[in-house]
Amino acid sequence: MSSKDWIEKDYYAALGVDKSASSDEIKKAYRKLARESHPDHNPGDTGAEERFKTVSEAYAVLGDEKKRREYDEMRSLFGSGAFRRNARGAGQPGGMPFDVSDLFGGGAGGGDNRFSGGGFTDLFSSIFSGGGGGGGPARPRGPARGRDVETEVALDFEDAVRGVTLPLSLRAPGVCDTCHGNGAKPGTQPVACPACHGAGVTTRNQGSFSFSEPCRNCQGVGTIVEEKCPECHGTGGVTKTRTLNVRFPAGVADGQRIRLAGRGEPGERGGPAGDLFVQVKVRPDELFGRTGDDLTLNVPITYAEAVLGTDLRVPTLDGTVTLRVPPGTPSGRVLRARGKGVVRKDGRAGDLLVTLDVVVPAKVSDEARAALETFAAQTPPAAREHLDARVRRFS
Ligand SMILES: [Zn+2]
Ligand SMILES: [Zn+2]
Repeated sequence: MSSKDWIEKDYYAALGVDKSASSDEIKKAYRKLARESHPDHNPGDTGAEERFKTVSEAYAVLGDEKKRREYDEMRSLFGSGAFRRNARGAGQPGGMPFDVSDLFGGGAGGGDNRFSGGGFTDLFSSIFSGGGGGGGPARPRGPARGRDVETEVALDFEDAVRGVTLPLSLRAPGVCDTCHGNGAKPGTQPVACPACHGAGVTTRNQGSFSFSEPCRNCQGVGTIVEEKCPECHGTGGVTKTRTLNVRFPAGVADGQRIRLAGRGEPGERGGPAGDLFVQVKVRPDELFGRTGDDLTLNVPITYAEAVLGTDLRVPTLDGTVTLRVPPGTPSGRVLRARGKGVVRKDGRAGDLLVTLDVVVPAKVSDEARAALETFAAQTPPAAREHLDARVRRFS
């Protein structure tokens, strides 16, 4: 809706200033008109109230250098002549020359959707919502919540298993130290917004429709900053490097996302902060793998050990454990050392899963070969009859 207003409304005329007026002249004109038409000075005078709104709306745009530039560009783009209406008529029903959204083919068909749907709004909201940190759908009153921040941290395997506290450096917007986030120059305070009387929302009538929207004069905050903080230019935030100590709980897993509520970007002008999301990457360990709370370990054994059985002493994360390999253990058998896995904060622990891997030597000595041949002669053939039967069908 704002872009439509910008085309239709002559804010310069509303303040009675020339297009080339300096920002000081604009400010002076606004102060004078706002004083004259202020509802407190004109109780019950709806005309004055309307003028006061118009003046505040005009100043919200022309009093902001960036918005003023955008407004000037937009009006030259659309030839203000075609759309020009005098300021007093602005906001009153009926006088609209034609629906601007028709130009863009969006939301045609009239009715209420000409204000909400359509390419026109989409096209321009992306240009003009810039910098506000709010944008998007109309929010209820109050300063905008800060954005969520996403970051990634690589943990060593053992740190992830045991838990660790790490300092985390984030280069991100933070609360301005000069004004403590309220955006006002030190020694001054934000004042109640004259357009919405601090409510943060305004109700407007357009034809037979009534709209409630975040106050444009104060962007829904309810207060305005007259003298901006020099450090943050009135936004209440500055970019800074923050260091946070983040506690990663024991057992944190690769790919896990940790949410730290309220540790994201601060809200604009004292609004609530966003959240910080830390994406955890766990560096692989050279020995251990991990499946949930279980640790995994591959242990090579010889054929003789698999056949004859043996006791294996294997490392755990913080010591060793001896595992019994019974005689006749097949390759790939998994042995379980209970409680030697990841210990959670609640004291419950996973297991260490040891996979036995029978290795075949690439080379053997003559003595070993002779022994193996003797062994082979004493051993029944492998159980492959079921395969041999199938092989015979093709020979
Ligand atoms: Zn306001
Ligand atoms: Zn500041």
